[in-house]
Amino acid sequence: MDLTYPDEAEVFRKEVRAWLEANLPEGWIDGDVRLTGEERRRFNEEWTRKLHEGGWICATWPEEYGGRGLSTMESVVLNEEFHRAGASLRGDFFGDTLVGPTILQWGTEEQKKQFLPGILRGEIAWCQGFSEPDAGSDLASLKTKAELDGDEWVISGQKIWTTQAGWADYIFVLARTDPDASKHAGISYLLCPMKQEGITTRPIRQPDGSAEFFEVFFDGARCPEANVVGGVNNGWKVAMTTLGFERGSSATTSYRRFEKEWEEIVEVARANGRVQDARTRQGLARTWSKVQLMRINGLRSLSAVVQDRKDPGVAALGATNKMFWSEYHQEVMDLAMGICGMKGQLLTGDPALEESVPGYGPRKPSDDYPATVLQSSFFFSRSETLWGGTSQIQRNIVGERVLGLPKEPKPA
Ligand SMILES: Cc1cc2nc3c(=O)[nH]c(=O)nc-3n(C[C@H](O)[C@H](O)[C@H](O)COP(=O)(O)OP(=O)(O)OC[C@H]3O[C@@H](n4cnc5c(N)ncnc54)[C@H](O)[C@@H]3O)c2cc1C
Repeated sequence: MDLTYPDEAEVFRKEVRAWLEANLPEGWIDGDVRLTGEERRRFNEEWTRKLHEGGWICATWPEEYGGRGLSTMESVVLNEEFHRAGASLRGDFFGDTLVGPTILQWGTEEQKKQFLPGILRGEIAWCQGFSEPDAGSDLASLKTKAELDGDEWVISGQKIWTTQAGWADYIFVLARTDPDASKHAGISYLLCPMKQEGITTRPIRQPDGSAEFFEVFFDGARCPEANVVGGVNNGWKVAMTTLGFERGSSATTSYRRFEKEWEEIVEVARANGRVQDARTRQGLARTWSKVQLMRINGLRSLSAVVQDRKDPGVAALGATNKMFWSEYHQEVMDLAMGICGMKGQLLTGDPALEESVPGYGPRKPSDDYPATVLQSSFFFSRSETLWGGTSQIQRNIVGERVLGLPKEPKPA
C-alpha cells in the first residue's frame, strides 16, 4: 500500500495548518492551555464563529449550500490537521453530522434554504427523536403519531434517550403518519421546533452525575406541514440514511482518540507499577494491536473510497467498524480501571475545571460525583455498544446484508 498523499492534498494541509496556527490561542497546539468553565464557554462561542468564517464546518458540502465542496482526500487532511491541533471541527454534532447531510440528500430546496445556513453557523442545536420506550433496536415499532390539522402536523407520543433534548432548538423526529400501513411504511421524518408548549423534556441522570439525555413527551406539539423530509410516509428510508451517517467514521482519524487514551493508560501503569505485571502488559499489547487494526482498516476504507471500490470486503469493513471500536473501548476501559486498582474508585475530578473526554468533548465533573476523565470515559464506553445500533444488531446486519446469511427468524 502506498501511504503517500497526493501533492494537492499536502498543499491543502499547509493551508489548514496555517489557519489553525493563526486562529488558535497561543500554546493550544502544545497542550499548554487549560480553561475554566467560563473561559471554555467563551472560547467555544468564538471558535464556532471562526470555524464558520474559515468555511470549515461541513466543508464537504457543495458550495451552493455553503460548503467548500472538499474532495475526499481534502476532507481527510482537514480532519487530520484538526485532530493534530486538538481543535473541534464541529458546530453541533446532530446538525452537521446527522440531520444536515440528511436534508442535503432528501430535503426540498426550501428546507435546504431554511435549515442548512443555521447548521453551518452552528446556531441551531438539534436532537434526534428516534428511540421510544418500546422501540429501540426494533425502531419500526414506534408509536409516536403525527396527524395533519390544517397546514400543521400535530404530534403525540414519547421519545427516550434523546441526547441534548433539554436545550435543543429542533428535533428530527420519526412519527407514524399512516396507522394503517405496514410497520416500516407509514412513518414520516419531521423537523419539529422544540421550544413550544406541546413538548416537555425530563432529564435522565447518568452514572457520572451529568444528564445529557432526556425523555421527550409530545402532547399536541405542532410543526409545519412542509417540514417532512423525503416525503410523507417515506421516513424509514430517510432515517436509515441518518443512521448510516451516525455509524460512519472519519477514516484516518477516529483511531487517534483511542491511541492517545491508550498512551495515557500506559502512563498510569508505569506510574503505579502495574506495568510490572505480565497480564497487564499482555492486555496493553492486545489493546494496542486493536488500535493499530483500526488505523489500518481506516486506511483500507479510504483507499476503497478513493478507488471507488465497492466489493464485499469493503462493505464488511464499513459494517464491522462500529462494533469493533465500541467493543475495543469497553475492553481497554476495563483494563484501565484494573490498572488504577482501588484508586480507580476514588472520585478525584475537579468540578471547577472542564476537561475534554476523548470523543465527547469538554465536561465539568459534577459536585456530588466528581468523576475523572478516565472514569467518565469508562462510563461512556458502556453506552457505545448501544447507541447508533447495538453490537448485536450490527452483527445481524453483517450476517444478513454483507455475508448473505439467512435472515434471523422472527417470532411467529
Ligand atoms: C448514550 C446514548 C445516547 C443515545 N442517544 C439517542 C438519541 O439521541 N436519540 C435516539 O433516538 N436514541 C438515542 N439512544 C437510544 C439508542 O438508539 C437505543 O438505546 C438503541 O437503539 C437500543 O435500543 P434499546 O435501548 O431500546 O434496547 P433494545 O432494543 O430493547 O435491546 C435490548 C438488548 O436486546 C438486543 N436485541 C434487540 N433486538 C435484537 C435482535 N433482533 N437480535 C439480537 N439482539 C437483539 C440488543 O442488542 C440489546 O442488547 C441513545 C442511547 C444511548 C445509550
